[in-house]
Amino acid sequence: MCGIVGYIGKKQAYPILIKGLKRLEYRGYDSAGVALLTDDNELKIYKTKGKVADLEAYSADKDISGTVGIAHTRWATHGEPNSTNAHPHISASGNLAIIHNGIIENYAVLKKQLCEYGVEFKSNTDTEVLVQLIDHIRVTHNVDLLTSVRLALRSVIGAYAIAILDKTDPNQIIAARKSSPLVVGIGDDEFFIGSDASPIIEYTNKVIYLDDGDIAVIRRDQEVKIVDFDNEENFRDIKEVELNLAQIEKDGFPHFMLKEIFEQPSCLKDCMRGRVNAETNKILLSAVIDHRDALINPRRIIIVACGTSWHAGLIGKQLIESFCKIPVEVEYASEFRYSNPVINNQDIVIAISQSGETADTLAAVELAKSKGAFIYGICNAIGSSIPRTTDTGSYIHVGPEIGVASTKAFTGQVTVLTMLALTLAEARGTIKHHEYTKIVKELMAIPDKMEELLKVNDKIKEISKVFTYAHNFLYLGRGYNYPVALEGALKLKEISYIHAEGYPAAEMKHGPIALIDEEMPVVVIATKNALYEKVVNNIQEIKARNARVLAIVSKDDEVVSKMADAYVELPETVECLEPMLATIPLQLIAYHVAVCKGKDVDRPRNLAKSVTVE
Ligand code: GLU
Repeated sequence: MCGIVGYIGKKQAYPILIKGLKRLEYRGYDSAGVALLTDDNELKIYKTKGKVADLEAYSADKDISGTVGIAHTRWATHGEPNSTNAHPHISASGNLAIIHNGIIENYAVLKKQLCEYGVEFKSNTDTEVLVQLIDHIRVTHNVDLLTSVRLALRSVIGAYAIAILDKTDPNQIIAARKSSPLVVGIGDDEFFIGSDASPIIEYTNKVIYLDDGDIAVIRRDQEVKIVDFDNEENFRDIKEVELNLAQIEKDGFPHFMLKEIFEQPSCLKDCMRGRVNAETNKILLSAVIDHRDALINPRRIIIVACGTSWHAGLIGKQLIESFCKIPVEVEYASEFRYSNPVINNQDIVIAISQSGETADTLAAVELAKSKGAFIYGICNAIGSSIPRTTDTGSYIHVGPEIGVASTKAFTGQVTVLTMLALTLAEARGTIKHHEYTKIVKELMAIPDKMEELLKVNDKIKEISKVFTYAHNFLYLGRGYNYPVALEGALKLKEISYIHAEGYPAAEMKHGPIALIDEEMPVVVIATKNALYEKVVNNIQEIKARNARVLAIVSKDDEVVSKMADAYVELPETVECLEPMLATIPLQLIAYHVAVCKGKDVDRPRNLAKSVTVE
């Protein structure tokens, strides 16, 4: 889950590496480090617990010269986050330095063997085992670095993106990947390495996305050479990335999360651009056009996802079942992959992941694929692993999401699921034409309604101040808004560290009502839909137990707005699109409560943006 950066060229490497780490810090941030081959050909390693800024402070008075280097921001899996366990790790000979994203699953066996050969370890990480193994093979077999990397990786089980620096050869970095992302940037007489393209795009838009099993030999003044474990050359296309720098900067907002909340109207326009036609009121998804036969008549659909994407999946289930009349199951990818699922070639699996790198979702995709299911990906990061593994899919096109708490990716995923459900329903003839047209028109109006809704930011900021006392929150919603309640609770947990639970409103009586008292605020989504009266009753029950109620209500609601301690009105829309609007005030509540409590909103403790480990 860490961030990897590398540079080799004519410029000084250190500033490029530090800048790159800052762009990747969302991926992990418990410690950071850098390895440089200095102008005197010394291998210098500086690493420290903490954030990239701590690394900068630590290396301020050190020799940071050199035109080749690698750097890492860590999210510990093996060994506590301290400066010894921080990457880069150095080999026993003192010649090799490695950075690694992922987990070496058989590290204990390998470490035992190496210890028997007398290798001494400095850290508790799985990563150090890899660099010691490579070095050991190189020394004992007297082979070059590439050969020792190839041989070492053959005996490794697990996931990795690695980059290795060699003191004896300052003109080379070797990089490799399996199940963790790695991108090589190609500039003029210089090369870059990144966990994604964000540290690279400032310098070049030409990149190679490495595939599983690729080992890249990156040498000054030579073309990048990619081989497999058997030294057979793999030819990979050079792609052009379209990200621009402004897209990944904060744009005047205090946090990426707030910027991304406010970006949602324009992101959803981007998501629909070229897909929803305002003149014909028709949706065209290229995936459905290209794979109509495979998609139109499945036995059932299984949605696999984790976290926020799983909540989007729950909304997708309701959309697909009600419009397409196809049974849908929504599974946690982490459970699905180990559950011996009964799937065959009549099933469609929809995999949802913002990063496209979520390890459990990727494994679920691979499992479903091996059983013959047709796989549809809904991802944000272009060229990431899941879209490259699926049969087809739709990118959500909301731009890079940096805030660890996902916001715009959620509404983008729901938008794609809505477009997919409507497109399939129309193709299957399970939706009436006027209903289809009405929802398409409403969908196109969502970005403007969101824009209007975002004006409540100041009001929510004030409301949030009142709620910082709470240690527990309950979030209630029904129907389409039940997953929104789950998502609202998750947002609050993630960034404010307040315990929060989402529940279907009617389930409250079957347990959680026992918790309700004046100390426990309840957020209720109580819009005027079929179950409105029932939710009103739930609010009565909550008020009778003295809890504060924050209600999300329909425009001009006169009942709930009078009962609630605070309320936010949603612009009108059709019921199935309400989640896209109702989620906005919940994102803002989580954000402002966390800010009031002084929390690091963009870098919440223990979390990482892209969960590339199990
Ligand atoms: N497993 C390695 C460690 O714990 C790498 C973790 C990461 O991807 O940041 O150091």
